[in-house]
Amino acid sequence: MPLDKVVIANRGEIALRILRACHALGIRTVAVHSTVDRNLKHVAMADESVCIGPAPSQKSYLDMASIIAAAEVTDAQAIHPGYGFLSENADFAERVEQSGFIFIGPRAETIRLMGDKVEAIRAMKEAGVPCVPGSGGPLGDDAATNVKIARGIGYPVIVKAAGGGGGRGMRVVHTEAALPTAIATTKQEALAAFSNDMVYMEKFLENPRHVEIQVLADGQGHAIHLGERDCSMQRRHQKVVEEAPAPGITPEQRAEIGRVCTEACLRIGYRGAGTFEFLYEDGRFYFIEMNTRIQVEHPVTEMVTGIDLVREQLMIASGKPLSIRQQDVVLAGHAIECRINAEDPETFMPSPGLIAHFHAPGGPGVRVDSHIYEGYRVPANYDSMIGKLIVHGADRAQAIARMRTALSEMVVDGIRTNIPLQQRILADAGFQQGGQNIHYLEKRLAERRDTTLSIG
Ligand code: ADP
Repeated sequence: MPLDKVVIANRGEIALRILRACHALGIRTVAVHSTVDRNLKHVAMADESVCIGPAPSQKSYLDMASIIAAAEVTDAQAIHPGYGFLSENADFAERVEQSGFIFIGPRAETIRLMGDKVEAIRAMKEAGVPCVPGSGGPLGDDAATNVKIARGIGYPVIVKAAGGGGGRGMRVVHTEAALPTAIATTKQEALAAFSNDMVYMEKFLENPRHVEIQVLADGQGHAIHLGERDCSMQRRHQKVVEEAPAPGITPEQRAEIGRVCTEACLRIGYRGAGTFEFLYEDGRFYFIEMNTRIQVEHPVTEMVTGIDLVREQLMIASGKPLSIRQQDVVLAGHAIECRINAEDPETFMPSPGLIAHFHAPGGPGVRVDSHIYEGYRVPANYDSMIGKLIVHGADRAQAIARMRTALSEMVVDGIRTNIPLQQRILADAGFQQGGQNIHYLEKRLAERRDTTLSIG
């Protein structure tokens, strides 16, 4: 293995996940952490650790110079960014490579391309990936032209920021009268939030599902896909439950959209693990964006394919050509992931604090990816996700049954968690039926609020 030591530039469950993949390959690890994170599980398990700053992310996990300095002082060869933080920051990838280290991810120019949604859509369209009908470029200031574009697309349309992310910087427009204000407001918001006022327009799909394709490419002429995940159970554009395969997607559809994605990877010289995100409506896929990193929900793909995605990231980064061929990728059974958050299950308010008692579920096909332990204090400074519960079953019904058992077995005392919410979702008839669209969960939550109000 040409990689000898890797810096893990992240925290929480994904840092632990990366550490496990490194150690299984005989690669030594360096944990970098903020002052409040010195008691994280992976910090204790890493071969070395470096404190890179105080609790606020800006001064630690987002501080490029400190992370690169940690790689220097520990004589590491590579930096794994995980997800979030600097994982999709092209400037960071560039600085890592310029400093003589390997960035475990795509080339900086690929990250930059995908970070600009207008350019990303243009490139993907050229590569033959089906996209949402839209303006095909940034909107100018001429009101008449914009009205014409919207008419061509047909209402409702959605105005989106080219530099947007995290579900922010978009606005749905139902009528021509509302268009000019919507464009102007989205531009203002985009400028404030992303320092870039470029916006574009797309057809607003009313009832789509979120279906995404996982790919691996070595940047040396080989690319494969590992099937799809359905992430339609969302609240405020945040995924809550994910599964693989997506209910109702046929092997033929999978093979076809997978082929399109792998060809696009080869065309842009993609390197590493990546995800093509699509909206899926009436049997058709519409590309919305590409994530150039490992994703939170990657375990469901691992469970149905038996492929360790983080191991593959490390192999690709070490310069090895992909050893898995498309025909080696065989999907078996069904996997579901529930994100476990330290938050109130009714109000969704974060609930940091001391974990007084923790009991992890187990049994056949049950996987817990989490950094928490009894006596661990969940800090208030970061994302509220404290772990992921993943199950695998022979089919979807068995996966649901196993998840329900595992959720009932899991105990996290001392803080509030969304486990009760996850139990309600898994018990829901609509979820059990499968194939619900991206609005389903919020609709059900609103109905529940109305019922509670009318009773209470
Ligand atoms: P972000 O990078 O902020 O996550 P995306 O482009 O991935 O932005 O869109 C986030 C979410 O917004 C999607 O999962 C979907 O729920 C909604 N959305 C985006 N574009 C459309 C569209 N054209 N029609 C309907 N919903 C959309």
